[in-house]
Amino acid sequence: MAEDVYDVLVVGGGASGLMAAGRAAELGKRVLILEKNKRVGEKLYISGGGRCNITNAEEDERVLLHAYGKAEQFLYSVFAQFSNKDTFTFFESRKLPLVVQARKRAFPASEKAADVVHTLERYITDGGVTLRTNSPVTRVLGDKTGIIGVACGAKIYTAKKYIFCTGSVSHPETGSTGDGFKWLEKLGHSIESPTPSIVPLKVKEVWPTLLSGMSLSFMKITFFIEGKKAFSKTGKILFTHFGLSGPLILNSSTAVSDLLYEGVVTATIDMYPDTDLGALERSVISVFDKNKNKALKNVLKDVVPDGTTRGILPLLEGKIDVTKKVHSVTKEERKVLVHLLKALPLTVEGLMGFDRAVIADGGVPLNEIDMRSMQSKKIPNLYLTGDLLHINRPSGGYSLQLCWSTGYVAGTHAASGE
Ligand SMILES: Cc1cc2nc3c(=O)[nH]c(=O)nc-3n(C[C@H](O)[C@H](O)[C@H](O)COP(=O)(O)OP(=O)(O)OC[C@H]3O[C@@H](n4cnc5c(N)ncnc54)[C@H](O)[C@@H]3O)c2cc1C
Repeated sequence: MAEDVYDVLVVGGGASGLMAAGRAAELGKRVLILEKNKRVGEKLYISGGGRCNITNAEEDERVLLHAYGKAEQFLYSVFAQFSNKDTFTFFESRKLPLVVQARKRAFPASEKAADVVHTLERYITDGGVTLRTNSPVTRVLGDKTGIIGVACGAKIYTAKKYIFCTGSVSHPETGSTGDGFKWLEKLGHSIESPTPSIVPLKVKEVWPTLLSGMSLSFMKITFFIEGKKAFSKTGKILFTHFGLSGPLILNSSTAVSDLLYEGVVTATIDMYPDTDLGALERSVISVFDKNKNKALKNVLKDVVPDGTTRGILPLLEGKIDVTKKVHSVTKEERKVLVHLLKALPLTVEGLMGFDRAVIADGGVPLNEIDMRSMQSKKIPNLYLTGDLLHINRPSGGYSLQLCWSTGYVAGTHAASGE
């Protein structure tokens, strides 16, 4: 066999590419990975804030797959071959114990994403995979009848089977710059245009930016379209220098993106979702009674969640004179304050871009792929994985589980000659 002829050629050494390559090699195939970066797994290193939410530990397969929305029906055969339980076995048998945290999110017990990358590196090394880093694929040679090679500049690599694992377009600095989409479109696949998904929100108001860096655990946000209630969710919000992030916001972003097409989107944050207006007013009265002779601005810290006074004060401007003594705050003014704590106002200006998106929605429609093998229905010797696929999903380990499952299935079938 010529030096550069392989059984399976994997383009992209991210989560799904490493899994696919390792699996094909484990089945005895001669495998090459071409990776444009100087090291593999750049996106994995930053996943889960460096802790890597490796999968979701939901035990009920139907519930798990339901989270993938319209893709659910396509995923049963993939997960029958490699499920979230297999992810646990795969990593734990390779000395990477996992722990399950809130919302069934599983992480490496070390909470180090780098440990996940190293485990996968060992997997490909043990299988004898050839890894060429600093090797951007610049051209794909072939047509609908099949791929005959890929070019890295002047160098051509060939293989019997190809697995494209080049990801999508979120966080392009990690290497995912949409190259795969361009090649696939030329080869006859259709591509649903990628849009940022699981992404923070930009808001018009200044007050959230004053709380930048602070996260509040139990907040309820309600979104409105043209003033009409659209939906509410409760969870953790992170305030940033541009607006809002955190799990609650990231998981609302797809729905908000749809609303933005319909008109003006506003929102309110309820800082005390478990306390009704009456009870909240009574607790404010009790704080006021104990601090009658103090200025309102100095007492505010006792009625708002810890550390949020600097964000709330500007919202009272023009409504209540915060320098006045608490005993002279009128009943109406007190009600304004209480209502505000139950409904901090926001105007959504838009979603942040791909640079801050966890995933980009869009990609190859699943009806163009044989989901039992991840083989392209358009190009016979090509397999596709991970973020290249048009599958919407929430945060919580669902994206990486897709990479493990589709990577494993693609590796298995590319190796088996089906
Ligand atoms: C900030 C952030 C945090 C995240 N956290 C989580 C999390 O905790 N849990 C979770 O489930 N999901 C998370 N995700 C999503 C998850 O990381 C992705 O779904 C996953 O990494 C996609 O893997 P992939 O193999 O499809 O592609 P990628 O990881 O994008 O890998 C593609 C690889 O292909 C290479 N490549 C691209 N073009 C070429 C080319 N022309 N030639 C050669 N190589 C090329 C790239 O350099 C890259 O290494 C996160 C995403 C982001 C951005």
